[in-house]
Amino acid sequence: MDLNIPASGKKRAVIVGGGFGGVALARALTRRGGFQVVLIDRNNYHQFQPLLYQVATSGMEPTAISFPLRKVFRRSRDFHFRMAAVEAVDTERGRLRTSAGDVHYDYLVLAAGTDTNYFGLERVERHALPLKSVGEALALRNRVLSAMEQAVRTTDPRERSELLDFVVVGGGPTGVELAGALAELQRHIFPKDYPELDIAGQMRIYLLNAAPRLLEGFSEESSARALRDLQRGGVEVVLGAMVRDFDGHTVYYNDGESIPARTVVWASGVVANTVGGIGPERCGRGRRIRVDAYNRMEGTENVFVIGDQCLQTSDPRYPDGHPQVAQVAIQQGRSVAANLSRMAAGRAPEPFVYNDKGSMATIGRNRAVAEIGGRHFGGFVAWALWLLVHLLFIIGVRNRLAVLFDWSWSYLTYDRPLRTIIRPAPRVRPGA
Ligand SMILES: Cc1cc2nc3c(=O)[nH]c(=O)nc-3n(C[C@H](O)[C@H](O)[C@H](O)COP(=O)(O)OP(=O)(O)OC[C@H]3O[C@@H](n4cnc5c(N)ncnc54)[C@H](O)[C@@H]3O)c2cc1C
Repeated sequence: MDLNIPASGKKRAVIVGGGFGGVALARALTRRGGFQVVLIDRNNYHQFQPLLYQVATSGMEPTAISFPLRKVFRRSRDFHFRMAAVEAVDTERGRLRTSAGDVHYDYLVLAAGTDTNYFGLERVERHALPLKSVGEALALRNRVLSAMEQAVRTTDPRERSELLDFVVVGGGPTGVELAGALAELQRHIFPKDYPELDIAGQMRIYLLNAAPRLLEGFSEESSARALRDLQRGGVEVVLGAMVRDFDGHTVYYNDGESIPARTVVWASGVVANTVGGIGPERCGRGRRIRVDAYNRMEGTENVFVIGDQCLQTSDPRYPDGHPQVAQVAIQQGRSVAANLSRMAAGRAPEPFVYNDKGSMATIGRNRAVAEIGGRHFGGFVAWALWLLVHLLFIIGVRNRLAVLFDWSWSYLTYDRPLRTIIRPAPRVRPGA
């Protein structure tokens, strides 16, 4: 069985993953022409991960941050999308095996991103909630709202306390943003929705971070500001807290410290997705696949890896590899597209040079930190910059308008309107 891609006279470039890197590469390559482009993703949509936490906290509809891949490329010529999960690559024969069939490639670009890293903590993996996809964001939204419903029903004070304690593990941008958004639900929404509960007195939001400061990739000044803003918003931040276990009722950290809680969100690290046929000897830190300065997998001529999945240490500014952020993936995608065109024209490829455009994280209404071009911003200015930049990078006019509407609504009304617990319908057996 194969993926039924029609033959064309052009060289075939197969891209695995329709995330930030894969979409930027496919767009650039289809615009340049000269290749047949095949994009493969296990989902039929691109997801805008930076806003997942807003879906999880009822502030944004999932379709506002998911965009159908076929729509992105519907005007592109000699482009083919296939929804399939990639399983293995045979670099000798130039073939890729997927859940839906095989496909031959002349050039292969892996852009399959990362998955949540539980660092071998099996019980944490079983009981905690990750936040890496739209599906996981919806699962978290359901869990938060269901915990509130259960807390209203229970007459057991210990159970109510467990249900009303929410723990976020990981003090990077995802953990900080999620904890800040949960604190806003606590302040503005839940007291009105659950008048039977003493939200101010009983609900607690914890942010546990193993490192001694939040937002380690940012300056000390921004870390301190994020800590202060979160604490002012009511989040209990515990620094130097190394989580060791979570049994579904209590989260244990350091030596003997614990918090009773049913909802624990694991935002503590990522590990690169694996592709069969690429052994651990080709991988470095975080299981990222090692590449040269042109994003070529070491030891190959026609296999490239970009974005979160690759480890590129050729630039002396980034001896441990680039940060795993959207801009790196986008710029590497464009760089590989340009190099494929150069190589097709008989010219030498050019090494990738990352242009760091800055970092930002939001902490809540009117509160954020941003570092752009060596300048540090906080408060409303950083928050407005954060809104603008995220809006610009969302794919599609409809999605941008939907996000803008959701933000404006929440800002003006203090409401988070999407507080629905939507579960997949149970399967009905014939005759049952
Ligand atoms: C919650 C969260 C918040 C974030 N916030 C920010 C932020 O504010 N700013 C920022 O710059 N970065 C942020 N990031 C990081 C950023 O999203 C990543 O760096 C970026 O998505 C990496 O792009 P990528 O193309 O390498 O991978 P991804 O965008 O992760 O894309 C990978 C794609 O591969 C597909 N895929 C995976 N495995 C397979 C397979 N076996 N077969 C087929 N398809 C597969 C996936 O479905 C996905 O579409 C955040 C990440 C998360 C999880």
